[in-house]
Amino acid sequence: MTDFAKEPLLLTPGPLTTSRTVKEAMFRDWGARDALFVEMTSRVRRAFEKISGVEVDGGSHTCIPIQGSGTFAVEAAITSFVPRNGKVLVLVNGAYGRRICRICNYHNRTFTSYETGENVIPSPNDLMSLLEADAEITDVIAVHCETTSGILNPIEEIAEVVTKAKCRFIVDAMSTFGAVKLDVKDTPCSAVIASSNKCLEGVPGLGFVLVEKEILKSSEGISNSLSLDLYDQWINLENTGQWRFTPPTHVLAAFDQALLEHEAEGGVRGRHARYQKNCRVLVEGMRALGFRTYLPDHLQAPIIITFYAPTHERFLFDQFYDSLKIRGFAIYPGKLTEIDTFRIGCIGRLDEGDMTAVVSSVREVISEMGVTL
Ligand SMILES: *Cc1c(COP(=O)(O)O)cnc(C)c1O
Repeated sequence: MTDFAKEPLLLTPGPLTTSRTVKEAMFRDWGARDALFVEMTSRVRRAFEKISGVEVDGGSHTCIPIQGSGTFAVEAAITSFVPRNGKVLVLVNGAYGRRICRICNYHNRTFTSYETGENVIPSPNDLMSLLEADAEITDVIAVHCETTSGILNPIEEIAEVVTKAKCRFIVDAMSTFGAVKLDVKDTPCSAVIASSNKCLEGVPGLGFVLVEKEILKSSEGISNSLSLDLYDQWINLENTGQWRFTPPTHVLAAFDQALLEHEAEGGVRGRHARYQKNCRVLVEGMRALGFRTYLPDHLQAPIIITFYAPTHERFLFDQFYDSLKIRGFAIYPGKLTEIDTFRIGCIGRLDEGDMTAVVSSVREVISEMGVTL
């Protein structure tokens, strides 16, 4: 366990608590042209592809890293792969879906959205009707786990419908990649987007786009952004092994270590098992205290859990937050548009002991506040 007073555990959607060994991997300076760094870049790309189920040699997809937070990678994928005269259908049930619409807007990509409530998953039948009714749609973009609530969208079923309609399918898998299975051998995806600092337990600063090679090869000149052009980034990486612009060297070194630890834990399956257990211990513990989850269990991803804020007059989120922080836990405010909630994450370098500890601290804090549930 961490030294409580100094370094709280991050029970958030990211950045997250990382292992000591991941942090230690940053204790060295790398030159961007150093042969070992070039090798590291390539090793990380191959490891990332392996997690997505891509064949080691001659696989269908390739991984392109891009500097920045996760949103930079989403924006890079949209500007690099959605043709300027294309039309996007965005599946929206939370803030990250809405952010995709904003990105389309910034880059003048025509889009329409299929919105469902923040606790409602999209219906594959409705999606099919929408695609049948609008032949202009070229691209469908969906969010795997909408981190706003923690809802798990039915990505396999959506992929099947999109493939039948012969559209490209882009998935924002930011908060699931590495912990919830999304294998491109079973689930046809044109592009899958993730970042260094969520379920792969690296530090923030890098995004990744896994893209079908066939799409990539025909993407030259589509992007209207130089720094976010994944085609250009790819050509440079393939030709020289190097990044076009300053790479976040320490972040990549930490990520290289984080990927080793992911594999040692048993890959996606092992990580999913730990997060699932974290989620169960947290939800059961909080329910025993009288809290209610926003989502029913069958829609809940083992990533972040939204709880209704108590309606008791003495419950003040800021005080609740600060008192938990003093006890060593950083939680997160709610992000729902209409309901008063708060969120507790169960990803990052956390185990069931940490989840039991946060539940006991919540019990102490609400009793101290004089809140009854
Ligand atoms: C975290 C996250 C992002 C990216 O957010 P950044 O703050 O830019 O890293 C995008 N989509 C989803 C679903 C996320 O959870």
